[in-house]
Amino acid sequence: MKHILLLGTGGTIACKHGDNGLTPLLTGEELLSYVPAARKFCQVESVQVLNIDSTNVHPKHWLMISKAIEENYDDYDGFVVAHGTDTMAYTAAALSYLIQHSKKPIVITGAQKPIDLDVTDARTNLLDSLRFASSDRAHGVNIVFDGKVIAGTRGKKERSKSYSAFSSINFPYLAVIQDETILFYIDDKWQDRESVRFYHKLNSNVALLKLIPSMDPSVFEYLAEHNDAVIIESFGVGGLPSYDNADFYSSIEKYVAQGKIVVMTTQVTQEGSNMSVYEVGQKAKNAFGLIESYDMTLEATVAKLMWILGQTSEADAVEELFYKTIGHDILWKAASR
Ligand code: ASP
Repeated sequence: MKHILLLGTGGTIACKHGDNGLTPLLTGEELLSYVPAARKFCQVESVQVLNIDSTNVHPKHWLMISKAIEENYDDYDGFVVAHGTDTMAYTAAALSYLIQHSKKPIVITGAQKPIDLDVTDARTNLLDSLRFASSDRAHGVNIVFDGKVIAGTRGKKERSKSYSAFSSINFPYLAVIQDETILFYIDDKWQDRESVRFYHKLNSNVALLKLIPSMDPSVFEYLAEHNDAVIIESFGVGGLPSYDNADFYSSIEKYVAQGKIVVMTTQVTQEGSNMSVYEVGQKAKNAFGLIESYDMTLEATVAKLMWILGQTSEADAVEELFYKTIGHDILWKAASR
């Protein structure tokens, strides 16, 4: 029988109603008491890493979760992290960079409704996650939610209330779980011959600027002044605006020359960026050699930059690592070479 470790971190799944709304109170041990059916296929123990709303999750918590998995890695066959849904996609992406080449499955799950309600998605999600973490064919970091298995770098919370909260962006679902059966769509476990590697450093000096028509470039300058990297969430396939008396080009030129990293991404969720299409994009890319996120999610872009900058700040090395495919995170760059 598989030996699984459940890591409690909080979120709605562990919430109870208090005077000021829902607050995470249940422990991992208590969560397990709601899924007795799991005993048929696995033996589960739990550790409590945190018990917070995922709104409050910070990169230091990603390191805590990764450390708890590393410390227990040899003793278990798989891991399930019970987590709030609001920042789950960021945590899943971060764990995908902090824990690479894991042949053991690491599953992140949560729920839209607390586990102690009569009508809830929490018990199904937890049971499905334990089932997936017990599968011989599962590996790496995954989100399991509403019967779908999503690569840790490809998840996005697209619905704030429905049970079908998470989508896999620009990548197929890895598997679906229906009627206690896992149907794998992608089965690549044995192609990865490298041994598991844990990383221990992140640099959270990364900022995001979402453009709106009329945005003042001084906002970019402020962010670039106070961070090591700025992600610009631009429009469509990507471009930089020029207005009558303000444009982003001179601001970006100044900060790129100082060694700041600027990454272009898009506000459009599906299909990603391609800055070479329009003059407004190509001009910037050619002039400053900006990195672009292509088909990556914003969550993966943020987490990957924090992971890369934890290792190096040298611009060429940052770019090389950024475009390296890790956990299915970016396909476009390699395909377009
Ligand atoms: N605010 C909650 C959290 O992210 C929402 C949830 O878990 O669904 O912790």
